[in-house]
Amino acid sequence: MTYAVQPPPVTTLPVSGTEETFPVSRVYCVGRNYAEHAVEMGHDPDREPPFFFAKPADAVVPNGGTLPFPSATEDLHHEIELVVALGEGGADLTASAALTKVFGYAVGLDMTRRDLQAEAKKAGRPWDMAKGFDRSAPMSAICPVSAIGHPERGSIWLRVNDELRQQGDLRQQIWKVPETIAFLSTLVELRPGDLIMTGTPKGVGPVRRGDQLVGHIDGVGDLKVGYRA
Ligand code: MN
Repeated sequence: MTYAVQPPPVTTLPVSGTEETFPVSRVYCVGRNYAEHAVEMGHDPDREPPFFFAKPADAVVPNGGTLPFPSATEDLHHEIELVVALGEGGADLTASAALTKVFGYAVGLDMTRRDLQAEAKKAGRPWDMAKGFDRSAPMSAICPVSAIGHPERGSIWLRVNDELRQQGDLRQQIWKVPETIAFLSTLVELRPGDLIMTGTPKGVGPVRRGDQLVGHIDGVGDLKVGYRA
């Protein structure tokens, strides 16, 4: 077989403590999964069913980079998030079965062109160009469950130029990881290599050219990313 055009390269992330790399399949994201963030975005955080959006696999960029400031926005926002990396897939999973499919966890940023998102919301249009742009998902190495277990509590925070912007605890998630995977598996058949970004705590805000971001989740790790001046 001959490809008509060059096939896309596989996006990968390192697996911490090993020589292996994790191949990224799809990237799904949960909206409004911490009550105080739902409130700051103007919504009632009562337990409505989780909702999802997606980013292309090649939106994922590894830890430690300096990124060009994205095009088409003057209101780029940071959203620090726990990322679930699936080692196995499945459809219509129960919550307990869902947890057995997890390969590991990472620290991620769901970078958002908030101005484009606000326009899309107002016009009832899709969020894709607000959420799924190039390099919109910086991520740390993946820590395998075999090394760290399943993080259910612990601090999650983000600093911009040493100023603490976001701070929360994984316990504040409205939909816990097993429930989130189970719900998503009723919408799509999940596959090994899929990543799920599980929502952000309160304190989202703007990122400017030249800013340095450091994110952290207890027991999972740190993520550093800079934007070119
Ligand atoms: Mn998010």
